[in-house]
Amino acid sequence: MSDFISIALSKGRIFDETAPLLARAGLTPHEDPDTRKLVIDTNRKDVRLIIVRASDTPTYVQHGAAQLGIAGHDVLHEHGGAGLYQPLDLRIAACRMIVAVRKGFDYSGAIRRGARLRVATKYVRTAREHFAKKAVHVDLIKLYGSMELAPVVGLADAIVDLVSSGSTLKANDLVVVEEVMPVSARLIVNQAALKTRRHLLQPMIEAFAEASVSTS
Ligand code: ADP
Ligand code: MG
Repeated sequence: MSDFISIALSKGRIFDETAPLLARAGLTPHEDPDTRKLVIDTNRKDVRLIIVRASDTPTYVQHGAAQLGIAGHDVLHEHGGAGLYQPLDLRIAACRMIVAVRKGFDYSGAIRRGARLRVATKYVRTAREHFAKKAVHVDLIKLYGSMELAPVVGLADAIVDLVSSGSTLKANDLVVVEEVMPVSARLIVNQAALKTRRHLLQPMIEAFAEASVSTS
């Protein structure tokens, strides 16, 4: 079993933008991620992909169920990074984590008055840290998706969410009032496996490094 590598990644954006890197690193998945299969073999007998929910990727790698993974900085920051080595920013799936409010909501005025803000987000830990640093009082409301809806229906004053083009915000009459952090996907490695399977993992990390340099 120790001569085997599983790479954890999520369907959608992460898989789509990782596929060219995998190809450049000499890895061809035997299946499309759109199949219902969650374990996908590759052209290399000793490497397989496992398809997980984006926010679960660090958990699989932390516990050694996968030795490598590809996860957004948003998800990694929220997870905390325990047990993970993060050798490489792959510079794919780039976007920004931001604070947004309804157009017309006086965000800076509310902050100046020391008002308590209701903030809806999937990223509770990251949001708590962000507002604590700015000494802004917040009540955090945990959501699992469609954060843009929360200010529109009065569930929250603000959201912490990801944005790239901004078209979803715009379609819902929301505006960005603050940047929390820039986000892109990282290669993550199980720290223990890096010791026991270094002979397999080190060349893979280097292949990813070269592949990501030649795309940018
Ligand atoms: P999910 O909806 O299950 O979280 P996504 O495919 O939407 O899955 O997001 C997976 C990852 O892709 C996120 O964790 C983030 O790192 C990145 N991502 C999410 N939204 C965007 C976006 N608008 N632009 C670029 N990257 C994004
Ligand atoms: Mg999404």
